[in-house]
Order: sequence, then structure tokens, then C-alpha cells
Amino acid sequence: MAEVVLSHVYKIFDKNVVAVDDVNFEVKNKEFVVLVGPSGCGKSTTLRMIAGLEEVSEGGIHIDGKVVNDVPPKDRDIAMVFQNYALYPHMTVYDNMAFGLKLRKYPKKEIKQRVFEAAELLGIKEYLDRKPKALSGGQRQRVAVGRAIVRKPKVFLFDEPLSNLDAKLRVQMRTEIIRLHNRLKATMIYVTHDQIEAMTMGDRIVVLRDGKVQQIDTPLRLYNHPRNKFVAGFIGSPAMNFMEVTVHKNKKLTIDEGRLKIELPEKFKTSLEPYVGKKVTFGIRPEDIYDRETAYNVKHKALIKSKVDVVEPMGNELYLYLTTGLNNYIARVETDVIPPSGIEMEFVFNMDKVHFFDNETEEIIE
Ligand code: ATP
Repeated sequence: MAEVVLSHVYKIFDKNVVAVDDVNFEVKNKEFVVLVGPSGCGKSTTLRMIAGLEEVSEGGIHIDGKVVNDVPPKDRDIAMVFQNYALYPHMTVYDNMAFGLKLRKYPKKEIKQRVFEAAELLGIKEYLDRKPKALSGGQRQRVAVGRAIVRKPKVFLFDEPLSNLDAKLRVQMRTEIIRLHNRLKATMIYVTHDQIEAMTMGDRIVVLRDGKVQQIDTPLRLYNHPRNKFVAGFIGSPAMNFMEVTVHKNKKLTIDEGRLKIELPEKFKTSLEPYVGKKVTFGIRPEDIYDRETAYNVKHKALIKSKVDVVEPMGNELYLYLTTGLNNYIARVETDVIPPSGIEMEFVFNMDKVHFFDNETEEIIE
């Protein structure tokens, strides 16, 4: 069993920098939870408080029901993997992996067995006699993970462990860490600024902004049901398009100062009623926009005349950078025909997939 609970946790650095602001979440036994958010949102500080490397200013960190705020890091039964690997350069891979166990006075035989087991699991057996400088970035990262595994900790913490790897290796290591989680069935908390890593790895994701939790949910719930404009824009690539629209009576919207009109499906009528006569933010993901020929499955369509600005062919699909005049947006369409830039075309918005956000609070309306 290894359950981690943060209740009303704050971190206030001197000069009153509130890095972590009333954070609450629960990581269940064997769960893989990702903390994600832009640079400076407080994710590393949160992880470091769980590890005991940073003092908690207020609130409680509980591991298996016990408050650990005053328990030193070495007694928390937690292992952390850092972005820069933090390997000892003068030690071999074997000694790097064995070091923590030696300190804890494990018998030599058991140390050897655990190091070999972990090296086998991570495919680094043939490097055990090498020093870190004779390894590639990916191999060093595996050693850093191996050093955590041999300890058989209650909880694994990862702080942006893949940031120093090239794009291809990052994708490969991502899969390896997921596989490792499936094999070890351990509780893992993983910090990243990369929403794709968060989406692909997490059982659940905690989205942070300015030290505050924005939403805690499964990847698909975050994607399909974002609670506010920040989460909607942060999760997904290319990001969700936002436009300012005016709500009119009779389920009508206008964009571009009234130049373009959109009919709303019935389901939005009630939620947008209080906004009649006002402006709200309209959100639509690039993949919910179609060229007219491929929109045959779309039930509630809105036709939007736009000018093609830039075309990016991705192989299986196109990213189209479009403009209505006052609003720029991106569509991700499947087509074999590449439209020339500068051309005016009608695009189809799938109105069953759109979201509306309150302009003042940025909370979701529907
Ligand atoms: P990144 O992805 O860039 O590492 P992060 O989300 O992990 O960012 P943190 O490193 O947790 O963010 O930092 C959160 C906030 O706390 C930032 O505004 C940062 O400047 C501030 N901060 C972090 N460490 C200290 C410190 N020792 N003293 C003062 N402020 C700090």
C-alpha cells in the first residue's frame, strides 16, 4: 500500500512568493498521477515537498495515512528521479545503482541481486562496469531509474525525467516508464510541462497554474470536459481555438462584430440564456473543423467562410491556418487536396463539440 494525500498544502518562499497555493489531491495506491502545467506553476516545488526536499509552509502531506511533514527524506520510503539524472560521475553504473542500498546496510548478496534484476528490466546489464560519462543520455536516464527501482520504494517521484533527451528517445522512454509502471505496480507521481507526456502517461492528471490546481481528471475527461479556458487551451495540440462571440436571442451567435452568424444546437439554449446580449468565448478544437467535402458525418454544422493563410501538410492530415478577418484559427483536416494560400473557402464547425467560456471568470459555461 502506498497512498499519498496533499491537504491544503502551501509553499511560501521568502519575499512572499506563493509557489504552491492551497493544493489538494490524492494519489491512490498503484496510481500513476502526472502534475502538469507551464513553467513556474509550482509542480516541482510540490514534488519536492512530497520528497521532503522542501519544507511545507502550511497544510499536510500524508503517506499511507501518516503526516510526513517532519519526516526526513531518507525515512519517507520514496525514490526520486531527477531531470539531470544526478548520477555520481566517479562511480560505475553498478555502484551508482547500489549506493542507496549500501548506505542502508543491505547485505552484499541482496544488493547484487536487486541491481542485476533492475539492470535486466531496463536493458542496461552490459553497462554495469561503465562510468556515467561513457553512456548516452538515454542510458544515463535508465541508470537513474534503476537506482530508484532497486530501493523498492513505496512511491516513485519523477521530476521532468525526459526533458534532456531528444524527441525520439523521449517517446521511447515514455513507453518504457509506462511499461515499468505496469510491471512494478507502484505508486508514481510524475512532473512534466509537456501536455502530451501527461496525456499519454497519466492515469489521472493534476493541472496546475500559478500554484493552484485547475482540474484533476483522467486524460480523456480533461480533453473532453475542461473546467476552464486555461485547461481547454493547455491540453491538446494544436491548441483549442478561441473566438469572442456575441450571444443573441433565438439561439444565434455572431462573430467578427456581427459579420458571421452561427446557429446554435438546442442543447446550448438554456446555458447561454443568461448571456443574451453579451460576449462569451467560443472554443473549438482544430480536429472539430472540417472542409465541406469531409463533413458528411457532422450533425450540427456551422459554415464559416475563411481565408487560408498558411498550409502545413503533416502527411496524413493538414494543419490549416485560417482567418475570418478578425479571428485567426487552426483546422486539422484530412484531405488529399492542398488548398492554395490566399483562397477563400467555407469550413464546417461541428457544433456538438464546441465549448463556451465566461469572459470574466474563464470558467466553462457548457
Ligand atoms: P519549471 O517547469 O520551470 O521547473 P515549476 O512549475 O516546476 O517550473 P517551481 O520550480 O515549482 O515551478 O517554482 C514555482 C514558483 O516558485 C516559481 O515562481 C519560482 O520562481 C518560485 N521558486 C521556486 N524555488 C524558489 C526559491 N528557492 N525561492 C524563491 N522562489 C522560488
